[in-house]
Amino acid sequence: MSCPPTGTCRSPISGCATCIRTWPARSPFDDGKSLLFTKDLDETVQSIATVSEHDAECFRTMWNSFAPMLEQYIIPLTYELPMPVVDQVVEIGATAIGEQLNEISDLSPIEVIDHYGFTDPRVRMALQSFSAMWGFHLDDPLGYLYPVYLCRMVNAALVKGGSHRLSSALYRVLVSNGGEILDTSEATGIDLRDDGGVTVEVADGHRFGARAVASTLNPQQTFMGLVGSENLPDDLRHAVADWEWEERTLFGQHLGIEGSFTYRHPEPRVGEAMIAFLGLETEDDLHEHLARVDAGTAGGGEWVHVTVPSHHDRSMAPEGHELVRAEQVVRYDDDWATGTQAFGDECLGLLERHADFGRIVLRRSTRPPTSRPSSTRCSGVR
Ligand SMILES: Cc1cc2nc3c(=O)[nH]c(=O)nc-3n(C[C@H](O)[C@H](O)[C@H](O)COP(=O)(O)OP(=O)(O)OC[C@H]3O[C@@H](n4cnc5c(N)ncnc54)[C@H](O)[C@@H]3O)c2cc1C
Repeated sequence: MSCPPTGTCRSPISGCATCIRTWPARSPFDDGKSLLFTKDLDETVQSIATVSEHDAECFRTMWNSFAPMLEQYIIPLTYELPMPVVDQVVEIGATAIGEQLNEISDLSPIEVIDHYGFTDPRVRMALQSFSAMWGFHLDDPLGYLYPVYLCRMVNAALVKGGSHRLSSALYRVLVSNGGEILDTSEATGIDLRDDGGVTVEVADGHRFGARAVASTLNPQQTFMGLVGSENLPDDLRHAVADWEWEERTLFGQHLGIEGSFTYRHPEPRVGEAMIAFLGLETEDDLHEHLARVDAGTAGGGEWVHVTVPSHHDRSMAPEGHELVRAEQVVRYDDDWATGTQAFGDECLGLLERHADFGRIVLRRSTRPPTSRPSSTRCSGVR
């Protein structure tokens, strides 16, 4: 779907609301400067140049490589059948742009930023934020996913009326084409039959025969739990056994505000950004913060990314109100049973340092589950 840089565009999914995009991401700093990242290369370069002219040119070079990499290889790879890795490397390496893609394919986010020569600590922080905000470890290989996350950030959008509208639209399309949806049917087993078919058993005892099953559950639950490890071919069993849960997830502080929500930053476009990153200034700050997250010592007032959906879509809050969503990277295994309120209070403190807002009339925290067997642990956020 191609959208204008601001405003709304219509989804091709029947009955789905329009989606809204604005200035995607902004990191405001304490000295009154800020960095803006949008789909418009010149606009982004201009913004980076207010902090570092050298890094602005590095960004131009990097994006001029990423754009054709995404167009020619990375985006098509997401909807084509996977190829064996060696064949893929050879095929991609046959063009100059593909060779550049192969060069970054094993690099971590920090190494990608080094590779393109960025030096300014604030620009480096902002460019690492786009993968760190989803829980990625910045020194783990991310490779071709780094351009994907940057592209995803500068193309960020909201579904008008809330993302439930998208799932409702998909629901309607399926039902209007003869599909049937059985809500609240817990799958309890998947039987791989000798004739090549599959039978799914659900908790109330019903059994459904099929040629194939598409499961959105995690590999452990699907294969070890529902299919049973003893029924898996060796290579699949080993692949599933090596699969690991992520250590980090997101804490969300959602607020309903009676009155307005206005950033105090002198640059007015901070308030227009889809996502504003608050709390950190430099690359070192980000690394130290993430080390504290992993050590279980990070507070709730260190680093948040904030979206005010009602700034972009008035249908998201009643008249005279705003809706605020602040999210931050946290560890799954912190003490969420007792620590949630205090963590949310600290998050609120950080928001208060950066924005003026009216009376809080709704406050809800979304935090990692506090008790779950490992097989139902919440999946990652990537
Ligand atoms: C904290 C957090 C914040 C996120 N924020 C964003 C965001 O802002 N934007 C974004 O695009 N993405 C976001 N994501 C990611 C997004 O939520 C996921 O990518 C998406 O929900 C994955 O969809 P899914 O259908 O594959 O899996 P899920 O949404 O996990 O759906 C799996 C479903 O299967 C059900 N289920 C489990 N066991 C059984 C069983 N035995 N039988 C039948 N059903 C079962 C579960 O109840 C669940 O409803 C976020 C994720 C998290 C955890």
